[in-house]
Amino acid sequence: MEALKLSRRLARSPVFGPLQAGELIPGDAVRDEALPEVIAANLATYGHGTSTVPMGGASDPAAVVDSAGVVRGLHNLRVVDASVIPHVPSTVTNLTTIMVGRAHLPPGLRAMTTVPRRSVSGREML
Ligand SMILES: Cc1cc2nc3c(=O)[nH]c(=O)nc-3n(C[C@H](O)[C@H](O)[C@H](O)COP(=O)(O)OP(=O)(O)OC[C@H]3O[C@@H](n4cnc5c(N)ncnc54)[C@H](O)[C@@H]3O)c2cc1C
Repeated sequence: MEALKLSRRLARSPVFGPLQAGELIPGDAVRDEALPEVIAANLATYGHGTSTVPMGGASDPAAVVDSAGVVRGLHNLRVVDASVIPHVPSTVTNLTTIMVGRAHLPPGLRAMTTVPRRSVSGREML
């Protein structure tokens, strides 16, 4: 709560105040004393869904797709998105999904993507 109050003070300071158009949520009309009540009334969570068709080895009964993203028991059907990440990651899911996509693209399509083929260090990438 103290950090939130400090943030508001900083945003309204002579240095930062002129640079911003006003507080969006909960808004300048809400006084600091009312913050606990406002926050409690507006708590929400959201998650980044992953791992609903997990990738795994042949002996893994929970695995829906193999290491190439091919759905077990079906031909010519791949899943290449956040759903194949084997376990809910403890990191950002967007980059992880991009990595999954890059790793699973057939070589011909991989060459057509816009991701730089060399990293800053000059090492060859996927
Ligand atoms: C509000 C929010 C904030 C986020 N912030 C971050 C962040 O800061 N950092 C981070 O790493 N990750 C973030 N994520 C998570 C990240 O966006 C996802 O993990 C990632 O986009 C998953 O990629 P995906 O390809 O699995 O699914 P998506 O990116 O959701 O792609 C699915 C695609 O399929 C399309 N589609 C759906 N149904 C059909 C249909 N029937 N026919 C054709 N197309 C269809 C959709 O339009 C969409 O383009 C955020 C997610 C949300 C919702």
